[in-house]
Amino acid sequence: MNGTCPLCDGAADLQPSQEIVGNVVLCDRCGYFRIEEGALDGFEQERHLVAGVTRRRSGLRPSVESRLTLTRDNIPDVLAGVQLAGGLLDHLDYTLEYVKGHQTRSDGFIEYRELVGTDYPLVFARDGNEFLHFQQTLAKQGLLEEPPGRDPARRTSFRLTAAGWQRVRELAKTGQDSNRAFVAMWFEPEVKAAWEDGIRPALEALGYDPVRIDLTHGENKIDDRIIAEIRRSGLVVADFTGHRGGVYFEAGLAIGLGIPVVWTCRRQDYQQTHFDTRQYQHLLWDAPEDLRVQLVNHIAARMPAHPLPE
Ligand SMILES: [Zn+2]
Repeated sequence: MNGTCPLCDGAADLQPSQEIVGNVVLCDRCGYFRIEEGALDGFEQERHLVAGVTRRRSGLRPSVESRLTLTRDNIPDVLAGVQLAGGLLDHLDYTLEYVKGHQTRSDGFIEYRELVGTDYPLVFARDGNEFLHFQQTLAKQGLLEEPPGRDPARRTSFRLTAAGWQRVRELAKTGQDSNRAFVAMWFEPEVKAAWEDGIRPALEALGYDPVRIDLTHGENKIDDRIIAEIRRSGLVVADFTGHRGGVYFEAGLAIGLGIPVVWTCRRQDYQQTHFDTRQYQHLLWDAPEDLRVQLVNHIAARMPAHPLPE
């Protein structure tokens, strides 16, 4: 450790980068990444979210392939990939996934060290205390439990309860298991390029099999087949350009089924949103190429089973 991590202010290894004006950083908390000088200017309050992205991407074995480069230009895209529209509820889901991943036996507990030490960026917490708060909230909900008869003065640890395992299974059903991505969008030549040069290549680059019903089915109506396709999908990308009722229906159905939805919209169309869905973060795009880049970053950060392509 020869320096200070620009994301978490903790001790980290810093080396000057050969390719950009900035450093290559290896941090126990934030992972392995490259950062251009000044990249975080104006984003001081979001540093912990950026750290979550770099750490989740680095995984257990940091490599050049998994190394994200943070630049002045791409921080907004990196942040757009952080799915926390549900606020605390999203943090809690990430935390449950974390506990499941670290609990080696159903009757075992995960270690306190892991709670507050170096893993808090994985759940987009600001620090270990916030991570602990997520655990305690889950315990109050009955999804986690502490060891019976624990001395309150001592270190704490948690494990999943039966209800917690149930919730983990619901989370896993929707996203981790299926490589099928359902695309809900307007069927008009105007947005053909958004599909061909934006959504489809983004999903394919991440290992998804994109499904768009109109390509195999002439009619534009909600039927049993569409519902079945959405049900089978691990992800739904809903583009609201043109504000078609069917897209709202399909996104709503996916939410009801617990399937992650990525909301996108051409920037000039965004203000015409019909329903009050603006509480959901939308990726706003101007051209298919920028839609593609935003989607890749967003989905890779949100879906650990579909990391960024090399
Ligand atoms: Zn760090």
